[in-house]
Amino acid sequence: MPRDPSAPHRAKRSLGQNFLVDPNIQRKIVDALRPSPDDEVMEIGPGRMALTQHLAGRVGRLVLVELDNALAARLQERFAGDPSVEIVHEDVLQVPLERISADPARLKVIGNIPYNITTPIIFGLLERRPRPAEIVVMIQREVADRILAPPGGKTYGALAVGVRAVAKVERVLNVSREAFRPAPDVMSTVIRIVPLNPPPLTEDDEAALRVLTRAAFGQRRKQFQRILRDAYGLSPEQVQALEGDTGMDLTARPESFAPERFIELARALRSAGHVSKSAPGVDPE
Ligand code: SAM
Repeated sequence: MPRDPSAPHRAKRSLGQNFLVDPNIQRKIVDALRPSPDDEVMEIGPGRMALTQHLAGRVGRLVLVELDNALAARLQERFAGDPSVEIVHEDVLQVPLERISADPARLKVIGNIPYNITTPIIFGLLERRPRPAEIVVMIQREVADRILAPPGGKTYGALAVGVRAVAKVERVLNVSREAFRPAPDVMSTVIRIVPLNPPPLTEDDEAALRVLTRAAFGQRRKQFQRILRDAYGLSPEQVQALEGDTGMDLTARPESFAPERFIELARALRSAGHVSKSAPGVDPE
């Protein structure tokens, strides 16, 4: 039987479908992106158009990436006569930004994103060149807290370093469970991520930083010097030389080092020709 696009939509847990129903919060999230008629915007998971309705008509071009068949069909129908809105009925993790925009560096990204794929979405947007101009996303509060955590605490780790080494991040607002239907099990936070432009690191330095960060927080209770000896096969003399080069005390634990220090250390390791013995590829946390 053909699908009726006006039929009520049952939320699918598997697609992280918690729909934002509070109009004030919808508006605040969209305003955080500072939309303008010059903008090209990609919305991830528009769903029932909670954010979309405040975006359409305010930006030059809006690309909606929605995986759900029924919701994508409704979007097609709703925006059929609007050449400024395009629907991409696909998994956002499978769509390269080059297919969304001819100039991904200009692209702004927004979304109340499915919480089960938060990390791959964020790293998919950041571990690439060029990065989009700006990203406003609603994510699980606990993940936002980890991204924003100051050095020294238990929540500070690979996620914080990975994101903050390449972008400025700020909390836009916290959102309670009651703002959604159905209510999610967790609380939410909207963050704004603005990738640093020009990028502060070369792509090779970024790759070295990822390897270092994963090694460091994989063994976060150890002293940094022990981790470097294990992961990079450094001798005590080589650790000492690194301390001399960077001015860092490597007897401290990795969690006490700010993202900038990780960058410095990754660069120093690379310029001294030290390479990790373990293969990269572990997802941050
Ligand atoms: N933006 C809407 C809102 O704020 O009410 C819906 C948000 S809901 C948390 C997440 C949305 O992402 C749903 O519409 C869901 O179907 C869609 N989605 C889930 N996985 C997706 C994926 N891999 N690619 C694109 N969209 C996806």
